[in-house]
Amino acid sequence: MNLDSQTCVVTGSSRGIGRGIATELGSHGANVVVNYRSSEGEAYDVVDAIEADGGTAIAVQADVTDGEAVDAMADRVRNAFGPADVLINNAGITVDKRFDEMTREDWDAVMEVNLGGVYNCTDAFYDDLRAADHGRLINISSVVGQQGNYGQANYAAAKSGLFGFTRTIALELASTGTTANCVSPGFVETDMLADVPERVREKIRNRIPLDRFAEVEDITGIVRFLAGPDADYMTGQILGVNGGMEW
Ligand code: NAP
Repeated sequence: MNLDSQTCVVTGSSRGIGRGIATELGSHGANVVVNYRSSEGEAYDVVDAIEADGGTAIAVQADVTDGEAVDAMADRVRNAFGPADVLINNAGITVDKRFDEMTREDWDAVMEVNLGGVYNCTDAFYDDLRAADHGRLINISSVVGQQGNYGQANYAAAKSGLFGFTRTIALELASTGTTANCVSPGFVETDMLADVPERVREKIRNRIPLDRFAEVEDITGIVRFLAGPDADYMTGQILGVNGGMEW
């Protein structure tokens, strides 16, 4: 299997896209770290699902906004599986409001998780990734970071920020052979989309050439490809997985 015994950390993998990535990597031989903030039961369900499929996984609680908790997670990972080979910065939140109604707290909350969490996790695992034979940093952005979206100035700014971050880290890691790439999904059927009213969903769907929202499985195979050895020569890239939306 192409991820045999690779230690793969997936932040925010108790639910949604992260859950799908964790199970996909687990089914390809990875030792998977299922990180979560508060959904403990769901995180252990993901571990059970990976083990039932013959894979190996542990669940580790850490709020990615808490640098000390993230460092403690990194220690637990090294004790369980050794240094990390692959870090997938997936944990993310939205706090949607039109800009004239958005408070500084709304802004900061989204920045803290979607960019601050990426800083904390990348920092905690950076030396591991740099030293790995096929080290991988994969950041999960969004088409909203490319197009903008009504009511999401904070989220769009954070997700755009990941593009510059990824391309810079790709340059800084290049001499080690470790790669850094960004996957930029369109609109995916998860809890994050569940709160969007039907009339807004309809408007969004009309902008998607493939005429449907993505399923989690539309994203996870792309992430598995990037995590594996077939993507050794691919770095600094932004992979749009959005049903053909323009940006
Ligand atoms: P989701 O279903 O809401 O799941 C979010 C996950 O992130 C949960 O496992 C949650 O854990 C975790 N999380 C949130 N805050 C955290 C924190 N501070 N520390 C650790 N974990 C935290 O979201 P999703 O739709 O799967 O989104 C996953 C990623 O894809 C996000 O970065 C999102 O921006 C991006 N994305 C989503 C879509 C979409 O349409 N759904 C589109 C493009 C990009 P707990 O349950 O424990 O809180």
